[in-house]
Amino acid sequence: MLTNNLGYPRIGSLRQLKKACENYWAGKISQQQLLREGHLIKKANWELQKELGIDKIPSNDFSFYDQVLDMSLMVNAIPERFHEVLLKEGKSELDLYFAMARGYQNDGLDIVALEMTKWFDTNYHYLVPEFRKDQPFKLFSTKVIDEFQEAKYEGIHTKPVLIGPVSYLLLGKEKERGFNRIDLISNLLPVYLEILKKLEEAGADWIQLDEPSLVMDLKNDEIEAFQVVYSQIRKAFPYLKILVSSYFGSIKHQLDWLSSLPICALHVDLTRGEEQLSDVLAHIPADITLSLGVVDGRNIWINDYSKSLNLLEEAIQQRGEERVWISPSCSLIHVPCDLELETNEESLKSEIKAWMAFAKQKLEELAALKKLVTSRENELFSRNQKLIQARKSSDLVHNSNVKEEAWSLSRGSDTRKNPFSVRKILQQAHLDLPAFPTTTIGSFPQTKEVRAWRLQFKKGLLGKVEYENLLKQEIKETIQWQEEVGLDVLVHGEYERNDMVEYFGEKLDGFAFTQNGWVQSYGSRCVKPPVIYGDVSRPEAMTVEWTSFAQACTDKLVKGMLTGPVTILQWSFVRDDQPRSSTALQIAIAIRKEVIDLEKAGIKIIQIDEPAIREGLPLRKEEWKGYLDWAIRAFRISSSGVKNQTQIHTHMCYSDFNDIISEIAEMDADVITIECSRSQMELLDAFAAFQYPNDIGPGVYDIHSPRVPSEEEMVDLLEKAISYLPQENVWVNPDCGLKTRQWSETTEALKRMVNAAQQMREKL
Ligand code: GLN
Ligand code: ZN
Repeated sequence: MLTNNLGYPRIGSLRQLKKACENYWAGKISQQQLLREGHLIKKANWELQKELGIDKIPSNDFSFYDQVLDMSLMVNAIPERFHEVLLKEGKSELDLYFAMARGYQNDGLDIVALEMTKWFDTNYHYLVPEFRKDQPFKLFSTKVIDEFQEAKYEGIHTKPVLIGPVSYLLLGKEKERGFNRIDLISNLLPVYLEILKKLEEAGADWIQLDEPSLVMDLKNDEIEAFQVVYSQIRKAFPYLKILVSSYFGSIKHQLDWLSSLPICALHVDLTRGEEQLSDVLAHIPADITLSLGVVDGRNIWINDYSKSLNLLEEAIQQRGEERVWISPSCSLIHVPCDLELETNEESLKSEIKAWMAFAKQKLEELAALKKLVTSRENELFSRNQKLIQARKSSDLVHNSNVKEEAWSLSRGSDTRKNPFSVRKILQQAHLDLPAFPTTTIGSFPQTKEVRAWRLQFKKGLLGKVEYENLLKQEIKETIQWQEEVGLDVLVHGEYERNDMVEYFGEKLDGFAFTQNGWVQSYGSRCVKPPVIYGDVSRPEAMTVEWTSFAQACTDKLVKGMLTGPVTILQWSFVRDDQPRSSTALQIAIAIRKEVIDLEKAGIKIIQIDEPAIREGLPLRKEEWKGYLDWAIRAFRISSSGVKNQTQIHTHMCYSDFNDIISEIAEMDADVITIECSRSQMELLDAFAAFQYPNDIGPGVYDIHSPRVPSEEEMVDLLEKAISYLPQENVWVNPDCGLKTRQWSETTEALKRMVNAAQQMREKL
């Protein structure tokens, strides 16, 4: 039996790739130096995998930015606007590549980057391929072959990884009307055949073609494309061994036709839909090797060997050891590199650390499982089972008060006392806001100084009192400045927060933190998700002091600012010993208490941000309802503990609301602020069609760019907004938080925004 790895993190355990790329972009290091850094990471990864006894080691899982972009370069799906880059002096293929990823504003050119979107239901973002009608493809980048050779030169025989042709097309977008991107398959396939030929000539035997779209709902022409592609490949290369890998879900619904696909091996994700194994065994012919994804590539908990061995043994019994491989569920790029780098007992207790595994440790698990398949009479097995048991019964994990509270939540806890129509009148009297009230989304520019204070405070170089005084001074100035700008509903600015999830995680029980637990989010951007290991509770108020201080600085209304339960859940590594819904409920109860405490402290408006609600949607539509039921309920529980006259806001960005508008309405926030300016208010279509009853603040300016829009532009957008919505429901605000902007732009933009609202009022 062999161990098979699908992909290894490429950022480097100390984020070397991030640093090298950013230095290269800033002109601080040469292309040679960047390539060298890339080579060192690849070499280290290959050698590590070899040393740990991985039999099928991937290559081409490395990428300087994104694996989908690599594919676009390979097949020459390079939109015309980028062609000029190569004509500029000294520009190489790599510069063209980065231009596609990041845009190119240089040498008199101003080219916008490819669009970026989420990789299935992960927090990784890929660059969306752009397709035109009848688009030709040809071999452009030979990276996959070069990397195979590079590994070979290091003495390591690898299994090259490519995104399969069908998934590659499905991941892209039609950039003109009148065709369907799947129809491009006949143009695309020859390039894949050419690549496979070169790989075969270079000595490759196994090739991994990732087809994660297999776990989605597929249309007939997409299924046909699969059938054509893989039979053509088999015909052209009868001796090349093709492994098709699916992940992030079950493929049960595709087995009918998958069973006749002429391939040598199929990878299935058994951490998502373990029950698919018996169906897979029954349908997939016995001469096809099954790569069983038993080690979770999406989470950081140790594997339960007993459970995995049972699955592996079931498969072995049916098709023999040679036809079963042990694998992680998906590529390991979704987990951090190496747990051994975590040495800070304070943020991560050793007891909890013992229950965790990062990428390197997961490879060790694969090797251990391979040993244990022959006999469980082994120290490896008993140690693992002890840890599994310890975690199950640990007091660190279980808090009976929290469980009790969740069970005994009273029936009406998820519903406001009265419907919005009643609340609206009471809130009008209580808050006395003008028509087109103006507000912001929460954060203001985080200057170097603010960041430095926070860092010094964390390192213990700045005392608590000193630190808090510095922030309070900053809040005070921010409040005065908002009064001068003329905003109606003020915020404290979120200066105490490094990140909207981390801040709350640090204040809540049940969360742990890593020092080096970085995961690639996109390109050089990495995130360090908190780890939710136990029942979540709130030992004390988290934001009341800051918000009350801000409110004491002004007679105007200050809006409290919280992150919602679904977003906290979504952007953390979560427990795998209870359903996500249970964890969401616990977080919701903690946030609810904070909301109530803010109200008690005299705060009349409270915002609960939920930007991640949409991204939590399951991959298949039939599972949406189950998720939305508990996710929306969690938000409602967090927000429904207040009086009618207290106004609850929520905020969401990058969201397309069309297919979830009724659930958004069910959240029943008094005000929802959304990102809208880049879509020219078109997102409001869904709200209008649904006759969404509550208040809406459609963003009137894009905060992602330093550009300051004119007053007229904002008036135009507001005019557009009231063509969709009743004017008495419309708020005026930017698209999102202003944390990444400069103060100068922010002041100018907000002044114009306030004037635009004033113009709208005068027209009434
Ligand atoms: N309140 C947060 C901020 O303003 C919201 C951020 C977000 O939506 N991602 O920064
Ligand atoms: Zn936002």
